[in-house]
Amino acid sequence: MGTIIPGRIIGADADGITVYANFTNFEYLMDKEVCNCEVILRDGRQLSPSQRNKIFALVQDITKHISGGQKSEEFYETLTSMQLLYVIDLEDREEIRKRLTYNYCQLRGIDLFSLKERSPDTIDMTTAGDFIDWLVELCIIHGIQCSDSLIERCEDQQRYLYACVMQKVCCICGLPADIHEYDTVGMGRERRTIHHEGQRVQPLCRRHHIEVGQIGQNAFDRKYHVSWVRLDARACEQLKWKK
Ligand SMILES: [Zn+2]
Repeated sequence: MGTIIPGRIIGADADGITVYANFTNFEYLMDKEVCNCEVILRDGRQLSPSQRNKIFALVQDITKHISGGQKSEEFYETLTSMQLLYVIDLEDREEIRKRLTYNYCQLRGIDLFSLKERSPDTIDMTTAGDFIDWLVELCIIHGIQCSDSLIERCEDQQRYLYACVMQKVCCICGLPADIHEYDTVGMGRERRTIHHEGQRVQPLCRRHHIEVGQIGQNAFDRKYHVSWVRLDARACEQLKWKK
């Protein structure tokens, strides 16, 4: 994990852009032998009404999940891992939204933002998309049932599908899933083959796996507006598959 610092584009030509960042901690650079960095381009547009609705809907589903939780050991573990242990009123949606926003900003190293329209600290569209996908991942990891399919809520479908693969949940309905090989439907091959790095997959539960076999991959993709994701080394390792 690195550190996030603000920067400004000071030049752009056919070869690329030049970014200036006011960072003077050379000890840090030497110590960690930092040579590379990632640049996130902020598009300057504020979050859209649909993004705002998605954030409120996700927070509502998370609140519903934890306010109705049995006060078991497992429940407190969930609260701890979601960093919600110190929320005073678990039914207070606004308090939970603020706490999740705070956790997200801490993680990304950014200032707290608001969801209000045209306020100086309103979240931009790119960050809002990342925040939504982060909330979606929390729901996948903790098995939180949502009122809409998460495939409709996520902003970056590749990231969503990848999270579903890692947690082995169906990308359509959220039930426990097997990893469905994308390229073999209708080829008469056996379902049980060895997964490997670079393979295109969809995480699907039994019912949706049967459906894709019946109606065909293309019709299935159109019906659910779903695509595929490629297995990488990390996914193979997590799922204990050969690379
Ligand atoms: Zn399913």
